[in-house]
Amino acid sequence: MRWKDEILNLTPYQPGKSIGAVKRQYGLDKIVKLASNENPFGCSKEALKTIREFDRSLALYPDGYATDLREALAKKLDVKPTELIFGNGSDNIIQIISRALLRPGYNTVMAVPTFSQYKHNAVIEGAEVREIPLIDGEHDLEDMLKAIDDKTNIVWVCSPNNPTGTYIKESTLVSFLERVPLETLVVLDEAYYEYVVAEDYYDAIELAKRFENVIVLRTFSKIYGLASLRIGYGVGHETVIRALEPVREPFNANSFAQAAAISALDDQRYVEACKQKNRAGMAQFYQFCDENNLAYMPSQGNFILIDFKVNGNEVFQYLLERGYIVRSGVALGFPTCVRVTVGSEEENSGLLTVIKEFISSKEFAS
Ligand SMILES: *Cc1c(COP(=O)(O)O)cnc(C)c1O
Repeated sequence: MRWKDEILNLTPYQPGKSIGAVKRQYGLDKIVKLASNENPFGCSKEALKTIREFDRSLALYPDGYATDLREALAKKLDVKPTELIFGNGSDNIIQIISRALLRPGYNTVMAVPTFSQYKHNAVIEGAEVREIPLIDGEHDLEDMLKAIDDKTNIVWVCSPNNPTGTYIKESTLVSFLERVPLETLVVLDEAYYEYVVAEDYYDAIELAKRFENVIVLRTFSKIYGLASLRIGYGVGHETVIRALEPVREPFNANSFAQAAAISALDDQRYVEACKQKNRAGMAQFYQFCDENNLAYMPSQGNFILIDFKVNGNEVFQYLLERGYIVRSGVALGFPTCVRVTVGSEEENSGLLTVIKEFISSKEFAS
């Protein structure tokens, strides 16, 4: 078959090991998964209730325009319904944007390391990928600007950045946006927006209104705790949304996801509670790392990148065998680190106890 050359060397996304598989392999009865930045407290009870009471026919296609969710979200964000696009997760919107703008002869600019799907989709579309190294975990926006030329169709900005948890200050981002050419679409991926507590963080929706070439991506997979339903959205100028819409699959947001997302949006008290608990959990990690001389990146997300100064796979394996699934930094571009999702207080203390054992075993060995 005549496959696109671009996909021949691509590997499929490697999901973390499933809980069932780890239980069987290591004979454990309790597993704590802190690997994919899911909400350890689940979703709002209201969203759960909506799913349980869902009574529309499964034989019918979902509303392809997500009318009710669109209206609810437009109201909440104070944007027009026509300034929104929905996706089967924000991953799907990353794919739609890439498909709409990237092709051979054009390029796309992004940080490295950052969220893997930007590059993955760009490679599939045959575009040149220009990766600009982070500086101390932060986007180097000045060098990213220098990498933009008249063939740059997309620049990706991930803030808070996955896997570092770093964010961009409002003044820095605005100064960047003022200098990006209008022909280049800036994708501002804010998957962790709801977790941010930094005072000098920007209002992305306001920036999307002010700069016609900005689209903001958000998701119900992280703080809203609905990752399994697959629903994310983009907020941008009407002209951008209108251009993207024909590229979107007609029924890419399922009925359960649309209904649950509306209920989840309604329950902002739950979101606020999760945000507070995340900061308390983050403090547990900061304190532990400070006490044990482990370097880490201060994080505005619900995850933390910790440097163990040994191969991240080794730490990963040690924790896995003791019932904790985390992400090795090896595949994330930080080979001596692991990325840990902040869990409940109990999950965090359990994990930190095992990490302490790991550190002690190393000290004993050396
Ligand atoms: C998790 C994540 C996404 C994708 O989330 P969806 O589940 O597809 O909505 C997008 N961007 C970043 C940076 C993420 O961490």
